[in-house]
Amino acid sequence: MRRIFHKLESGKMVTPVYIFLLIYTIMALVWWGVLLFRQSEQITGYERENLTMRVDSLKRPMEYHLAEQQIGKNERLRTFKFLGEGAIFLLILLVGAWLVYRAIRKQLKLQQQQQNFMMAVTHELKSPIAAAKLNLETIRKRKLDEEKQHKLIDNTIRETNRLDQLCNNILLASQFENQRNQLFQESVNFSALVQAGTDEIQARTNSHIIKSEIEPGIWLDADKFMMQIVLSNLVENAIKYVPKGTEIIVKLFEKDRLLKWQVIDAGPGIPSDEKDRIFQKFYRIGNENTRSAKGSGLGLYLTRKIIEQHNGTIVVKDNAPAGTIFEITLGEYSLQSV
Ligand code: ADP
Repeated sequence: MRRIFHKLESGKMVTPVYIFLLIYTIMALVWWGVLLFRQSEQITGYERENLTMRVDSLKRPMEYHLAEQQIGKNERLRTFKFLGEGAIFLLILLVGAWLVYRAIRKQLKLQQQQQNFMMAVTHELKSPIAAAKLNLETIRKRKLDEEKQHKLIDNTIRETNRLDQLCNNILLASQFENQRNQLFQESVNFSALVQAGTDEIQARTNSHIIKSEIEPGIWLDADKFMMQIVLSNLVENAIKYVPKGTEIIVKLFEKDRLLKWQVIDAGPGIPSDEKDRIFQKFYRIGNENTRSAKGSGLGLYLTRKIIEQHNGTIVVKDNAPAGTIFEITLGEYSLQSV
């Protein structure tokens, strides 16, 4: 019994139970219809008996014939009414069942994604803390030369940055959830912001070359903190998902009076049927067994939310010959000579 409840709670039994209930309800409806038709036949039988007792068909054939016709007509009317009502009832039942089924499936999927997210996030929160603690303890306990100390300190900074990014993403996601996220927009030298952000990520990454092609003097009304999160999410993803040593390019330029902001990599790319889904909350390509890179599935969801709040759009395209281009389009910018 406990196993059945456990299966129900985990969602495994929902589909069979739901299908059983639906079939049971439809069969009950059909049975109800059969009973009604039987009842209708009985009514017709009683009416005919009654007519034979009331009217002598030999003496008053015309009256008998008319009454007989009326009884037949009444029966056909009842049949029509039962079939019509039954069909409408069945239709409503099926539409309702389909809507409920869709809602349940969505809920179960979200529940599963949330579980995966909790597992991933717990690991993601613990591993940088453990690494930073170990590094600091090593520095305290051992007499290391300066170079080794620097290496450990750099590693600790990298881990705390990862932790910081994850905390920002979790906090932001909950703010978006409660619709409490407000932008603090101001006029920003966007070229400088993107350049500084890219340089900062490059300074703490030695596994990849991050090139920047940024048109100078582009100003934008934007929330600095949010835009840094966007840049960090996109570039850190590229670092995470493309092979070491590969080039990542951050571009900022104007085209047809619109501002284009691209993060380009030459990694494995994103399959066409996943291109929309990667922006969903908690969505990660593959499954827990096949994925090697760690993550929470929040980065691109937040990135799109932030860009939409800035009245912009983000799309993902294929890079040639391989890889991915994340392209953000923004309007309302200005150019100032530098
Ligand atoms: P996370 O990286 O935490 O899994 P994201 O929302 O940032 O979550 O990304 C969603 C998914 O999109 C990732 O799990 C990954 O499979 C895919 N993805 C994102 N960026 C890239 C990229 N540059 N190249 C290949 N796949 C990517």
